[in-house]
Amino acid sequence: MTRLEGKVALVTGGSRGIGAAVALRLAEAGADTVLTYENNAERADAVAGRIRAAGRRGLALRSDSARPGAPAAAVEEAVAAFGRLDILVNNAAVFLVGPLADWGAAEIDRTLAVNVRAPFTAAQAAARHMGPGGRIISIGSNVADRAPFPGLALYSMSKTALAGMTRGLARELGPRGITVNLVHPGPTDTDANPADGPNAQAIAGLTSVGRYARTTEIAATVAHLAGEDGAYITGAELHVDGGFTA
Ligand code: NDP
Repeated sequence: MTRLEGKVALVTGGSRGIGAAVALRLAEAGADTVLTYENNAERADAVAGRIRAAGRRGLALRSDSARPGAPAAAVEEAVAAFGRLDILVNNAAVFLVGPLADWGAAEIDRTLAVNVRAPFTAAQAAARHMGPGGRIISIGSNVADRAPFPGLALYSMSKTALAGMTRGLARELGPRGITVNLVHPGPTDTDANPADGPNAQAIAGLTSVGRYARTTEIAATVAHLAGEDGAYITGAELHVDGGFTA
């Protein structure tokens, strides 16, 4: 079991879904954990409350990743609150699906702001505070590498960009003992992609195991990367997708 006592983690988009499972898993392993959210204060406070109930420090921050300065400000708030930062998980994302003709500048800019600029600027701010053992982990997508059906170009473009960022930062931060990795979930049962949604059966059929992931199955891989056992993994893309990209 990964042990993270004495570490501080920041998870963006931790009020629901994969981000909430990651925040809870890191806290269960011992990390004091800060999570951000956009709108859902009640859900975010509930996750922070569960972290505190587990005996760790937990804090929910409202921080819209679309705003240019917000990710760096969240990093600074986390450091101010808990004194250090060891683990950054870039999880918050915009998920727009539709034909090419549907997207105007507003949708394109918002997708790139939340899914690409925010992870980059959060990593930039986090790297200033991290020492040896630091971890930057981003959540990509199974559709960063495959286009299983039309309508995903904008979202996929944003997730593929994280691969370039991950490799570049891994090279740059490796000498300081900081690892940088990208986890690509497959279809995972969340509000954004419910396992009982209208297309869920077809989507599950694109995996080799024939089912959606539980959020805890994605969180387990993030926790492994976050701990000492993950120390020699960097610049990697890890597919936790039930064989979707097999
Ligand atoms: P959910 O829609 O269930 O949750 C999204 C979370 O991100 C919420 O906590 C939400 O906060 C937060 N969030 C959204 N926009 C912003 C923003 N602008 N600023 C701050 N926080 C924000 O998403 P999932 O759990 O399904 O997805 C999590 C990650 O996993 C994403 O990166 C997604 O692309 C990726 N992914 C998901 C897959 C799936 O099948 N579910 C498959 C592959 C990848 P609030 O509650 O306030 O709205």
